[in-house]
Amino acid sequence: MGIVKDTVSGFWNLILGLFTTGKYLPKKSVTLQYPDERWPMPERSRGVVVLLSDPETGELNCNACQVCMKQCPVHAIDVEQIKDPETKKRYPGKFTIDNTICCFCGICEEVCNFDAIKLTGKYEFSVFNKAELIYNKEKLQELGRDVKYTPKKKQKPAADEKPEKDAKTEKIGTESVEEKAETKPGEENS
Ligand code: SF4
Ligand code: SF4
Repeated sequence: MGIVKDTVSGFWNLILGLFTTGKYLPKKSVTLQYPDERWPMPERSRGVVVLLSDPETGELNCNACQVCMKQCPVHAIDVEQIKDPETKKRYPGKFTIDNTICCFCGICEEVCNFDAIKLTGKYEFSVFNKAELIYNKEKLQELGRDVKYTPKKKQKPAADEKPEKDAKTEKIGTESVEEKAETKPGEENS
């Protein structure tokens, strides 16, 4: 009697399972075949921090000024500056980011004046060894190679274009010079 009951119950569960599967078959899939497929991440996602390179020369934009290192609230960045004695150009001899402590605040990107560092939508951090989460310069540059960015370098004003404040100051300065020139000797103390 127990065997019959179990068989009927099993058969009934099989029917229910097939019914549930059949119900979702015609619907659009909501899962992706990771890692062959990936969700596109929003532009301002806070994922892996990378180093950016000049699209034309392929060289790192970083000049090792160390501002990001000093501003990082968790001291996740370590930059060693090297100065070329001939060209006087500065570049990072060492640049590491410790992803075990990075909190993805984005301050490094915010303070960098050279479009050299950026948070990306990349999110694949999994490693077997924790030490591998400390990314070196080469890895950071490689991760940033396909990252598009809009340069935020401040444009220098054209030579004939002067800020309003400066123009005013100049005018006041000119007037005072002209006024002084018009002032006759002996009138100064009257
Ligand atoms: S990433 Fe930017 S702020 Fe950091 S050392 Fe390089 S140039 Fe300076
Ligand atoms: S995102 Fe924030 S915590 Fe991470 S390296 Fe940049 S400044 Fe440091």
